[in-house]
Amino acid sequence: MSDSKVFDILVVGGGMTGTALALGLSQQGWKTGLIEAGERAALLQDPAPVQSVADFEPRVSAISMASQQLLDSLGAWECVTAGRHCPYQGMTVWDGDGTGRIHFEAAELQARALGTIVENRSIVRALFAAVEGSAVELIDGAQVTGSWLDGDQRGIELAGGRKLSARLVVAADGAHSRMRQWAGLPTREWDYDQQAIVCTVRTSQSHRYTAWQRFSQTGPLAFLPLATETGDENVCSIVWSQDTHEARRLMALDDAMFTAELERAIERELGVVEAISKRFAFPLRQRHAKDYIAPGFALVGDAAHTIHPLAGQGANLGYGDVRVLMEELLKAKSAGLSPANELVLARYQRRRKGENLTMMAAMEGFKQLFGRDELPLRWIRNAGMRWLDGLGPIKNRIAAEAMGLII
Ligand SMILES: Cc1cc2nc3c(=O)[nH]c(=O)nc-3n(C[C@H](O)[C@H](O)[C@H](O)COP(=O)(O)OP(=O)(O)OC[C@H]3O[C@@H](n4cnc5c(N)ncnc54)[C@H](O)[C@@H]3O)c2cc1C
Repeated sequence: MSDSKVFDILVVGGGMTGTALALGLSQQGWKTGLIEAGERAALLQDPAPVQSVADFEPRVSAISMASQQLLDSLGAWECVTAGRHCPYQGMTVWDGDGTGRIHFEAAELQARALGTIVENRSIVRALFAAVEGSAVELIDGAQVTGSWLDGDQRGIELAGGRKLSARLVVAADGAHSRMRQWAGLPTREWDYDQQAIVCTVRTSQSHRYTAWQRFSQTGPLAFLPLATETGDENVCSIVWSQDTHEARRLMALDDAMFTAELERAIERELGVVEAISKRFAFPLRQRHAKDYIAPGFALVGDAAHTIHPLAGQGANLGYGDVRVLMEELLKAKSAGLSPANELVLARYQRRRKGENLTMMAAMEGFKQLFGRDELPLRWIRNAGMRWLDGLGPIKNRIAAEAMGLII
């Protein structure tokens, strides 16, 4: 079965990245399709009000101000903020094996918040709600099973045999992107030999709208503040990245033993852990596509790069890709060029690769710096943190850039 309709742009993957891109490109006037394996009804479903920690989605993201602005410009942020979301005003990072500690405060950066913690599904839901009222043609419940170059178009085959084509196909199908493989774009990747344990907890003390991160030799532990419908300030999402053998040991503990270890690891900054949801463990792997583009094809989001979650930047990098690809495609539209124009795609790749690689290198540097126990390194990182903490304006400038307050 072949579909005679040719899209300007087909986006494959309706996660946080692909849905935002499809929406933005359709708003620019491109004839845009969005293909997503999940079903529309499920993606648009309202989250149930929180009764217990188990009602939160385990995967949450710290959405930077830059990403918020993008979602706002697409008409989706209002829907996100109408539901559960937690703007955080503070961030405290410290070295569990030393005395170094650094604290950032939104007010010192002249910002209302450093970012907002949101459940991933709430962002996807808000974007799908915006897609509903847009010109995007949503092809949901559809698994792409093949993709190929066909003259100056790209063909796509869906499970069941339906075929579609577009001048430009953008793959936003996540870390294990089949689209990337079909386009013949290799990756450079390495295993961190770590797993991230994620779950939701209730603590006896308020999170004080602060993101807490303690580094230790075996990996970082983050407590990210969550908001409930009733204004409860005692619920946090945790991301505990640990060396694989240690993560396996922690996952095998019963809830009481796990929470006891968790309290110890966060140095009881938030008091007693009173309740805990089911735990999930994600293997951590750094991936970077050597090229983001091929004729009539581009990668965005996790399909192009995955990084360690220690600074919560994965989705934000994806939104950086979306912003730049939209900018380049808008210029192409104004100039009457095809969305698959080689120079347009090359400019997208050039602008994003450098920034993504810089962030990936910084994450790797952090991980190495805190993963070592040699005395000189411990001294450098602890002295460095204390020194930076004392440098008000410089510290704030660095933080503002890192948190996307300066675009
Ligand atoms: C433990 C952990 C914590 C994290 N914390 C943060 C954080 O605090 N802040 C942050 O910014 N990032 C964070 N991240 C990263 C963030 O979750 C990802 O970067 C983000 O979800 C990637 O979004 P995406 O849309 O690119 O890919 P995905 O979310 O993987 O979406 C891909 C979509 O493509 C669809 N799809 C796949 N294959 C096909 C196919 N063949 N046909 C049709 N559809 C298909 C899927 O159904 C899915 O909807 C974290 C990651 C981990 C592992």
